[in-house]
This record gives sequence, structure tokens and C-alpha cells, in this order.
Amino acid sequence: MLLWCTPLLLIWIIPSRAASFCTKSDQCPIGDNLGPPPAIAEARYDHTRIYQVELSNQTHVELFQKLEEASDSCSFMGHARAVGQKLTIMVTSHKVADFDDLLHSYNVSHRILNYNFQELIDENYRDVAPESSGPEQLNWKQYFPLESIYKWMEMLAQQRPEVVTMLDMGTSTQGLPIRGVRIAFGRENVTSVFVESGIHAREWIAPATATYIIDQLLNSPDPRVQEMARSHNWLIFPSVNPDGYRYTFKGDRMWRKNRALFGICRGVDLNRNFPFHWNVTGASGDPCRYDYSGPSAGSEVETQRIIKFLEDNTQTHRIRTFIALHSYSQLIMFPYGHSPKRVENYADLKAIGQLAAQRIKDLSGRIYKSGSIYETIYPSSGGSKDWAHGHLQIPITFSYELRGPPDSEQLFILSAKEIEPAASEAFASLQTIVEEAGKRGYYQLI
Ligand SMILES: [Zn+2]
Repeated sequence: MLLWCTPLLLIWIIPSRAASFCTKSDQCPIGDNLGPPPAIAEARYDHTRIYQVELSNQTHVELFQKLEEASDSCSFMGHARAVGQKLTIMVTSHKVADFDDLLHSYNVSHRILNYNFQELIDENYRDVAPESSGPEQLNWKQYFPLESIYKWMEMLAQQRPEVVTMLDMGTSTQGLPIRGVRIAFGRENVTSVFVESGIHAREWIAPATATYIIDQLLNSPDPRVQEMARSHNWLIFPSVNPDGYRYTFKGDRMWRKNRALFGICRGVDLNRNFPFHWNVTGASGDPCRYDYSGPSAGSEVETQRIIKFLEDNTQTHRIRTFIALHSYSQLIMFPYGHSPKRVENYADLKAIGQLAAQRIKDLSGRIYKSGSIYETIYPSSGGSKDWAHGHLQIPITFSYELRGPPDSEQLFILSAKEIEPAASEAFASLQTIVEEAGKRGYYQLI
């Protein structure tokens, strides 16, 4: 999802032994609380609650605007903007009583979506494949860390060198490579599809969907998919924010931004950092906020890597399609985010987006909405797809919010059981986008 939250807040040291949970020394076996210090500190969300509140009047709108400004114990998914809006808020355990009191004092209708967010996170971590698993074991029933995804792509490039080539954008802020693959079956004079994924670290379904797309393009037995795969070249980067993605496995599962250090806080929201109407709306100037747009337009290493890659390759590889993968809310969006101004091919993108959403409904029954970012979710600026469309003039530009639904009880912590259904419906709709854009002449070479 585009919005969310201040990095929370409760940093607990993970005990290295069960005995460290003792609260009284006389209940602890002697010596058992004297182990080596734990290797890492990990954010915990024990008894953190998820509320959905309804803003019934202007007083409510202003109340929640003030609350978001005042409290880093309440993490908002979206900003309070309008009467009638439903807003999801994560409340840390020590603030639950105060928050509940506030709801009753101002007569705010609400429901509690989750009482203990840590349980979901624990379950999600159990769905992560061990680091020791080999590249041939990658699948869509578990989540995989960055190293496993990279090894898997390397394996594909070794197995099918005539089709798969490793790509490298360069390194991240903390020195990790930003790697992807090019899939090309050798047809001449075809256009390319660029897929950017994982720019928001905690949206794990995005890299998982990117690897699913790679697998389908290479291995699907469906002749229609094979024809689409061969009719384009594909440039796919499963994680363009590798520092952030790594940190969600060994630090804070809810981390969103990159890991650049700014005084007391870390991280720029890379999807607010692109140099196209930068920082005009829906972004923060505060490095401690989840949607910090950065000290200047295009300030971040990762943003610069994506910009350079696309500037170097859009003409030579004829990139005509740009896809960005996010979660959650089940949306298929197109530019712009900074303004209600319509892009020049609004009618085509609107029609294509609606057909893509219909494809998902037919396939899985899931409801996805389609429209411009501004009209579908909320105003935001400095996003990569706005830059790709507005600056580079890549005509077919879509950004997905994958599963779950807008009122999801899991937020970004999508169960691993949903990886395959979520990725397969996204892939089917991507097929619709590419086929429909082709019918409308977007891939014709002059
Ligand atoms: Zn996102």
C-alpha cells in the first residue's frame, strides 16, 4: 500500500533462550539469564491492535489529522481526508486504552480488525523458506529472502542462457546489488515490458509475484502465455529496495522505506522520491515519517539506479510498458497521483485497467478497482510510475496494489497460502493489459 506508517516503535530485544522470558529471578533457572547477548534487536507488535474507524463528520476528520501528527504510537494507513472515509490505524499496546477512550469520547464508529498483530507476523515468519534452501526449491507457497531470489535468477540464467540474462542496476545505499532478469526469446523488433517490484519493503507479495511472473513467462504450458512471452522482451526486478527488504526479515517486518540515515531516523519513501512533481502532495518532509520524500528530488541511490536504468534502456529496448507491484488494497492504477489532471491516453488506460480488473473477477472472484492514482486511492507525488509516464513517456503504465482487500485484517502480512492465488490473478490481468495495449496499437513499431 502506498501509505503507512511510522516505523514502530516497540523495539524489544529477542531473548536468545526461553528462560529469558522469566519476569522474576526466582522463577528462572540459575544462570539461564546469563546467555550471550542476542545478535539482533527486532521490532515487536505484541498486543498491537488494528482498528478501522469511520470518519462521520468534519470533527472526526480533524481529530484524526491531529492524532496522526501528534502520535507515533498510532500508525495510519492513509491520511484522514474526508467525511465518510474509513481509515485503518495500527495502535501499539501501551496506547490502546487512550485510543479506545478517544473513540468513545468522540463517538467514532469503529471495529477492531486485529487484537495482536505479532501473532500474524510470527505466522508469516514461519512461512519463510530457510536460508539454506537451494535455488531449485523456490516456490510460491513460501516467502523467500533476497539472497534466495537472486540465486534462483542466476540458476535460470545458467539453465537457459539463450533466453535469460542477469541484469544489475548497481548497488543500494547499503551496498546490496539491485538485480533482475531480462527474458528475451529472440524475436526481433519487439517492445519491452519493465516490471518494478518491492520498492516498499514490507509488501512481500510484490517480489513473490515478480518471481511468479518470471516463472510463468519461462515455463507456462499455456500457448496464449507463451505467445505473449515471446511477443515482448521482459525486464523484471523483484526487489528494487533490497536494503529495506532485507530489514523486514531481520529487523522490522513493517519497514517500508530505504535504509538511508537522516539524523535520528532512517529511510526515504522511494516511491515519493522521483523527480516528477516531487513533494507537491501526499508526502512528508520529515525523515521520521513513513512517507518521507527525501531531502531533494531523486536524492536516493535506489531512485537514481532505477532512473539511470530506464533512461539508458527505454529507447534502446523500446520499453512501452511499465508495471509497478505493491500491496495491499486490490487496485490497478495508472497516472497521475499528484493531480486530477488526466494523462493524454486516460481513456485507453481506464478501459484497459477495467478489463484487467474484470479478468481477475472472472478468474478468482476478487474485486479489484481501477482508475488513476489520484482518483482511486489518494493524492501522492514523486511516484515512479508518474515519472515513467510523465517524464519518459512510457505510454502503458500501471501500478498494482495486490491482495488483500482495502479492509484487510492482515494488512501487508499476507499469508503464504495466498501467494499463488494473488500472483496468478495479477499475472492473468497483466496478460490482459499487454494484449489490450497491443490491440490498441501501443506496440507497433514505426
Ligand atoms: Zn507500496
